[in-house]
Order: sequence, then structure tokens, then C-alpha cells
Amino acid sequence: MQIRNLFCLILFLVVGCSKPNWTPPSVSTKDLTPLNDYRIVRVITHLHTPYSYDACDKQGLVNGVPNANCLAEFRRGLCDNQVDFAMLTDHPEHMAETDFKQLLLYQTGDKLAPNDDAPVSSTLGGCAKGNTPQLSVGFEGALMPVLMESQIEPDVTTRLALYQKDDSNTVARLRTESNGLIMIPHTEHWSIDDLQALAPDGIEVYNLHANLDPKIRAAHLEIPSFDPALNLLPYYIDPYRQEIPDLAFIGFMEWSPVYARIWDALLARYLKFTALSGCDSHENTLSSIAWDDERLDAHRRLMHWVTEFAYVKENTFDEVKTAFQNHRVNLVFEGFGTPDQFEFTASTSTTTAMVGETLPLEESQTRIRVKVPNIHAGSFQPGYATDSAAGTAQIKLVLRKISIKSQNSDIVAEAVDQSIDFGVYEPGIYRAEVWIRPKHLSSFLNYDYNQANLDHLWILSNPIWIEAAAVTEGRKTTRETSLEEN
Ligand SMILES: [Zn+2]
Ligand SMILES: [Zn+2]
Repeated sequence: MQIRNLFCLILFLVVGCSKPNWTPPSVSTKDLTPLNDYRIVRVITHLHTPYSYDACDKQGLVNGVPNANCLAEFRRGLCDNQVDFAMLTDHPEHMAETDFKQLLLYQTGDKLAPNDDAPVSSTLGGCAKGNTPQLSVGFEGALMPVLMESQIEPDVTTRLALYQKDDSNTVARLRTESNGLIMIPHTEHWSIDDLQALAPDGIEVYNLHANLDPKIRAAHLEIPSFDPALNLLPYYIDPYRQEIPDLAFIGFMEWSPVYARIWDALLARYLKFTALSGCDSHENTLSSIAWDDERLDAHRRLMHWVTEFAYVKENTFDEVKTAFQNHRVNLVFEGFGTPDQFEFTASTSTTTAMVGETLPLEESQTRIRVKVPNIHAGSFQPGYATDSAAGTAQIKLVLRKISIKSQNSDIVAEAVDQSIDFGVYEPGIYRAEVWIRPKHLSSFLNYDYNQANLDHLWILSNPIWIEAAAVTEGRKTTRETSLEEN
């Protein structure tokens, strides 16, 4: 621990700070502002139930039965955070041998769809807030199929072996036989060439488990192994009950440059896919109990931090699948607050493209809009905004354009606390980032107060593709030709 940190810890223990009045935040997506006839749903695309061999401190199944406490924690996490849709991604060990009804955690009061005999999703009953999270089935081996509609391969032993593979053949089989979308988790381990060869439907460009693991941080993320972990102690032992354990993960939201490098390079190679954030909650990393009597890595805490906001017409299995197929998704680090009224769109005189969509360039008429989001007033308990110690968050918007030549991205526009309105004069692949300096949390970050003065990633958009008007030129597609000019 650095001397300065040690000094701060001692000072904090002796003097203490202003008393927070914290209740776990949660905003219903029904209260968020719709955009161009779409509503937002809160989705998590990487989660482990007791059916993963390593979940629940490796006690997920006890004599073949899901660990009741861990299962209850899992359901409570989805309910309390008002998650609309959770794509379950249990490891093949147990997932491959288990039927869909069990994998969907079915219990009395839940509703299976489209029917009880061959369900693809379930809707949880019994949430205290009256919300109804939906679940779907997938798995995490080296590949991570989500939104599967069935198991594939009748023999369980053969199936288990198949689910561990990571070749193009397996991608094709899973895509056609399970009807799922094939995602790649933990891309920090992957080479760009191997990812390109698999042409997945989506890849993770952030993973909370990777950020929490000192070995992965050092080996693959190019960030220091232990820095944020050294700041966790006060969340466990705070005798004044003033540190907010829900905010303990703020230091682990650091965005490794490795992810941007992989993401931008694949986009530059003309791959179209959906970028995802991996919540990857297991209840198997920080099992000690924080001062608020809940384990630090409780599903409820982790599920709050890392989600995707998808644009759908309604919250159904098919609509969510369509949104993820069409990249109509923003990655949101919601522990900083729930963003509302964010917009990343491109328009011409006649058409508006949402995030993830493609728009033909119209000369002198094409504009990209990145609208600065608000922090929804329900993000924290009433009174936080009027706390005299709390400041106002600073929000920085960044618009990036993928460079085909250098296979990374360049900043083409930037704005602080105001929106970007950018005239587009050439085709290209554009994506937006929203960074937040969370001064509004300063009174809740006693010992970790430095975090309130740093810029943290709050929202990552999927790209918008601006293409040249259609022309045919040799063997190449219009898109390849137009992008190469940049
Ligand atoms: Zn993981
Ligand atoms: Zn995982």
C-alpha cells in the first residue's frame, strides 16, 4: 500500500467523514426516455447461476441441487437492480447435462415461454418491486453462445466436449442448430486474427472478472495487478459504517487499452458484430462479508455495475435477439448513475440511423449526434443531490472514427458537458464514448475519494457505419472500397 493511502486510511479511521444515507439505487427502464420509437431495456449478457461448476464458491450444486442461498441471491440481484433481460452463460460443466427448464431456474410463480415443454425463456415472478426479469440460456466455454433455443448434440458426453471447442465449425453448428448468437467472452486472451477468423456475432470489450483478477490484469490487460484491490479494506472493516460497499468496484471499472485495440482492429477489418460488456458475476471472487452484512461480490452489487442498454420495441426474447443481432446496444457502467436521454444517432435529410445501424452518406447533409446524458434522478436516494459535500458530475463525450489504415481509432470530436453535432463528409465507422468524472459521488467515497476526480468510462456505444452511396467497383463491396479511401 502506498504511504499516502496508508495515511488516508489512518486519518479516515480516526476522524471519519460525513455520514451517507445510502439505499441501493435502481431505476426502472420504463422511466427512461424512449428514442425514435424504441424503448430501452437493461440487459446482462454474461452471468453464472449455481449451474456453473465454479459459481457460489464452487458450491453451486449440492448433491445435484442448486445451492438455495446462492440461487436466492442471484434472483434477488436481478429483481433489485430491475434487470429486464439476463442472458445466462453457465459453464459447460453442469450446463451441458442440464435441461432448459432447470437452466432457466424455473420455480413456481415463474412463467416459461413459448410453452412449458420446450421453453427458451422464463420470466421471474416474485420481485419485490413488481418488475419481471426474463432469462435465456447460453453457455461460456471458449465461445459464449447466448439466446440459445435448445441444446445441440443428443449425447451428453459428446455435447460437453463440443461445448469446449472454439473453431469455426463449432461456431457454425451452434449458430444453426441452437439458433443462438455466438459471442466471445474474455477477448483479452484472444489474438485479433483468431477472432477475425471466427467472425462472431459479438465480443466482449470489457469484463469485470478480468478486471478483478490480479493475474489477468497483469498478463492480459496491461494494467497494474493490485492497485484497486488495495483500496478494498475499508469496505470490509469500516467501524463508522460510512464507506459504501456498493461502490467498492469503482476502481475496477478501468478500461484496459487492450480491448479498444482489439475492437477497433476488427472493425477496421470490416467485421460487423456487437460489442458487449461482461458482468460475469459468479459469487466466487470476494466472498468475505462487508460491513453491511453482504458479501462484497454479491450478485446484487456486481449486476448493478455492468449492463447493456438495448433498444427494443418491447421486452421479448425475439426483440432482444434482434437488437443484439443489429448492434442496437450501448454498454453502460451504471454504478456511476443511470444515464437518461443519451443519444448516438446519424441522420441525413431523409433518414435517421440508430446506434449499430448503417447509413448511406448524403453529401453535405449527413450529421452525427452524440447527446449528453443526464444522471436519472432516481439513481441514488433522495437527498444525494442536495448534499452540500456532493459536487456535480463532469461528462465528457468523445466521437471516434475507425482508421482502416492504422487499424485503430482517432478522436474526431470531443465535448465536455455538452452534446456533439458532427458534420460527416466521408464514409467511415464511428463510435461514441461517454466518460464521467463522478464528483456527485464524492461524499460517498470517503477513503476512495480520489476516484471522484478521475474520468471513468460511463457509456460505450456500438458503432454507426456511414457508407458511400452504392457503386460497383471490381470485386470489392461498396463498403470496402469506400472505407479504404480513408
Ligand atoms: Zn470470467
Ligand atoms: Zn464467466
